[in-house]
Amino acid sequence: MIQKNCDSPRVKDILAKSLDLQVLNLAEVSALLSLEDRDLWAEVFDAARRVKEKVYGKRIVLFAPLYLSNECTNDCLYCGFRSGNRDARRKTLTVHEAVEEANLLSNRGYKRLLLVASEHPQLAGISYIEQVVHAIYKETDIRILHANTAPMSVDDFRRLKECRIGVYQCFQETYHIPTYRSMHSKGTKADYAWRLNVMDRAVEAGFEDVGMGVLLGLYDWRWEAGALIAHSRRLMSKYGFGPHTLSVPRLQPAQGSEMKDVHYRVSDEDLKKIVAIYRLALPYVGVVVSTREPAGLRDELLVTGASQISAGSKTSPSGYMKDGDTEQFEIGDTRSLEEVINRIVSLGLVPSLCTACYREGRSGESFRHLAEQETMKAFCQENAILSLKEYMEDCASGEAKDMLKKLLNEEIEKSANGLTEKFKLIEKGKRDVHI
Ligand code: SAM
Ligand code: SF4
Repeated sequence: MIQKNCDSPRVKDILAKSLDLQVLNLAEVSALLSLEDRDLWAEVFDAARRVKEKVYGKRIVLFAPLYLSNECTNDCLYCGFRSGNRDARRKTLTVHEAVEEANLLSNRGYKRLLLVASEHPQLAGISYIEQVVHAIYKETDIRILHANTAPMSVDDFRRLKECRIGVYQCFQETYHIPTYRSMHSKGTKADYAWRLNVMDRAVEAGFEDVGMGVLLGLYDWRWEAGALIAHSRRLMSKYGFGPHTLSVPRLQPAQGSEMKDVHYRVSDEDLKKIVAIYRLALPYVGVVVSTREPAGLRDELLVTGASQISAGSKTSPSGYMKDGDTEQFEIGDTRSLEEVINRIVSLGLVPSLCTACYREGRSGESFRHLAEQETMKAFCQENAILSLKEYMEDCASGEAKDMLKKLLNEEIEKSANGLTEKFKLIEKGKRDVHI
């Protein structure tokens, strides 16, 4: 599938198509994947940044993962939670503990959390997840919960959707069947087709926003990225919308992992290329970078196409309240939410804690159309600013507060859309002001 010797005029045509916010076909994706010329790559990175700004403006969405359980019936060789890891300290949060963790994150300023769970039908099945979700919405100020859990049946997905999960996220890990089989020999996850069809079941159950990805480092990244884009395009032609987000999880060391020798290691430069290609291939899609990656690289990825990042993350259940239980993998960026916000502002971008789209029905096909018509960025920019004003009033201090004040004052001067009035409402204590 990968083409060699892609010439410069062809690449420029492809970049022009992306800049016109059109989805690329597989021949065009293949041309980018096989590109070697460094000067052309500089143009590709620049085009990815411009495409992102056309769709979302300067805003960068922030969230944190909340790990619910590390007790797992699967044995994925790369993961610290795998059943074969005899040294793991196992833990499933009680509903009360999950609420405590969510409250702690809410007090730090987060509004959006990604619930993450290992696969354990008895301990962390749909009934447990439902209870956690209901309790967090009822007892905390968290506004949207997304979920990265094991694939479910259509009936269980219906229950997940009914309890107001925003995005359902699941990574295929690898599309290369022999590699998939060697990595996942036990448990439900050994069934490749059950995982491959997970998004069809989620969509059938009513999810319009789904998040996809491959675990980078298991097999040749060019092949995997091509397969993920092909899968996304298939969903698009079937349902009118494809993934809401594509994530770029890169294999990290994990205590108890069996991956001693990584043949397909993805370099930092390759990760930048992957982010740029996802952005260009599917212009409207959110590209998510986690704290698996180190701070400096994450900054670079933000200016080459990434639009969402987690911040201040822990990857063990109870990780925010105490250290101790087994982590899923090691974290590369240990900066706090406040530090990440400061850095994003200093890069000339706008951090966002907005959660409006999921609650205002801007999802699935309608989200895609708004993004492709360049209408989404107006929502994103204003809501990002309003969310930062709230964050500044409630959580920021010292230098961070001064920096945000300056940014918000500049935005007021630029704005012709009643921001001043909305700021006054927030100063008087109104919360969740958004368009
Ligand atoms: N247990 C569910 C599953 O496997 O789909 C969902 C949660 S799992 C904790 C989330 C993702 O973490 C996995 O899909 C995998 O891609 C990623 N992951 C597992 N081990 C990792 C590692 N060592 N480094 C980086 N990411 C890893
Ligand atoms: Fe379990 Fe998911 Fe880890 Fe596999 S990746 S061992 S399913 S938590």
